[in-house]
Amino acid sequence: MTEFTPVIGLEIHLQLKTRSKMFCASLNGSDGADPNTNICEVCTGQPGSLPVANREAIEKAILMGLALNCEIAEYSKFDRKNYFYPDLPKGYQISQFDKPICGKGEVRFEVGGKECRVSITRAHLEEDAGKLIHPVNSDYSLVDLNRAGTPLLETVTEPDFTSPEQAKAFLQHLRTLARYLGVSDADMEKGQLRCDANISMRPHGSSALPNYKVEVKNMNSFKAVEEALTYEIERQSAELAEGRKLATETRGWSDEKKVTLSQRSKEGSDDYRYFPEPDLPVLHFTREFVETIRSRLPELPAAKRARLISEYNLPEKLAGQLVEDKFLAEYFEAVVSELSEWLSVAGEREPEKLKALVKEAANWCAGIFTELLNAAGIAAGESKVTPENFAELLKMIEKSEVSKTAAKAVFAEMFETGEDPSNIVEEKGLKQVSDAGAIEAVFDKVMAGNPKWVADYKAGKTQVAGSFIGAVMKETKGKANPQVVNEILKKKLE
Ligand SMILES: [Zn+2]
Repeated sequence: MTEFTPVIGLEIHLQLKTRSKMFCASLNGSDGADPNTNICEVCTGQPGSLPVANREAIEKAILMGLALNCEIAEYSKFDRKNYFYPDLPKGYQISQFDKPICGKGEVRFEVGGKECRVSITRAHLEEDAGKLIHPVNSDYSLVDLNRAGTPLLETVTEPDFTSPEQAKAFLQHLRTLARYLGVSDADMEKGQLRCDANISMRPHGSSALPNYKVEVKNMNSFKAVEEALTYEIERQSAELAEGRKLATETRGWSDEKKVTLSQRSKEGSDDYRYFPEPDLPVLHFTREFVETIRSRLPELPAAKRARLISEYNLPEKLAGQLVEDKFLAEYFEAVVSELSEWLSVAGEREPEKLKALVKEAANWCAGIFTELLNAAGIAAGESKVTPENFAELLKMIEKSEVSKTAAKAVFAEMFETGEDPSNIVEEKGLKQVSDAGAIEAVFDKVMAGNPKWVADYKAGKTQVAGSFIGAVMKETKGKANPQVVNEILKKKLE
């Protein structure tokens, strides 16, 4: 049997976060707005109305293009893509055909700890269409044009991916980039990030591209992208193994049935009768203009990750988890700055102590904090826990004022109420007991109640130490400092 290798390329639509729409002054972003309220004569395609290109959208497209290492065109223009659909009142979409804003690029990203590379074919600006609503049990459809005219950046990759995991990882990387740049929230569930894939199979070792291409649509989550591509690999391999020929077509992913279904044969670009948009001037980008935009590029995820590793000595994986979310990474650094300020005010300039505290901060950020943020559906900066209080809690652990277990409960409370950790510890009586005298009294009580344990320990069965510690912990409601308990145990029994 011939073995096959997948050939996968992606087309990704990213909704740009701008104040107004792509070619008019109507508001962009209609979450929760009544249907057909953010509209005007331009985005509803009234005769005689004229489009004006949105400068903010163009600048954000260039910013994203620079992050994808694309060549930025010196001259770029808009074109009409003609097709009929009820949610497209003009009968054409303003897009870009042969002169996209962003040309060839290249992106490096990671898949399972390994670096991967993909070439970008182009990235161009276009406007979104409206939405059709099909009420249940009715024989009519409704149209909402709030979304019509929203700016989209369509990024097209070369067919460089050879596995569904790579395609998914790249899509996630693109989302991270968009969020770092602030050009889009890139939420797939909200349709701000949409992905179509083309996939075909070639015999192992062959370098020629297959003579067919299946386009897969309707993948509305990262998981769906991976599942749909995995399904296609199996389907196409089976067909080819049977000696059947595959044709170029468009297939839709069904999330319920977990299969792709044939929709139509694919149109070529000739079918759209592209021609230059006569109502918009050609765009000219000077080098100075592009460099001004380049200077706005923030520290990107890969660079931030490398810096967190070298500056704070964090393990690679932990640094990777932090930079995946720009807001979490910024929050972490705010906590670190509180911690180092505390140490320098306290006159403690031990780099080892700071290093340990910073690592602890990273663990808390990537662990319990991320869990709570995800559950609440908010970003790190929106949490009620200030970096100052976060650092305060870590200090309390370091000074043995609260046990790690109790600290988790304290943190959950802080997340809920935004209260100071010291207040919560006080109110709930969670302060860790490190006072040797108090713990010794409890220990004596435990010894008196369990003469067998004492005898066992003295006879060399030191594993009963666990029972002693457990009993002291129970007696003190978990507040005894385990280290102090251990010292007392040794003093009393050895
Ligand atoms: Zn409008």
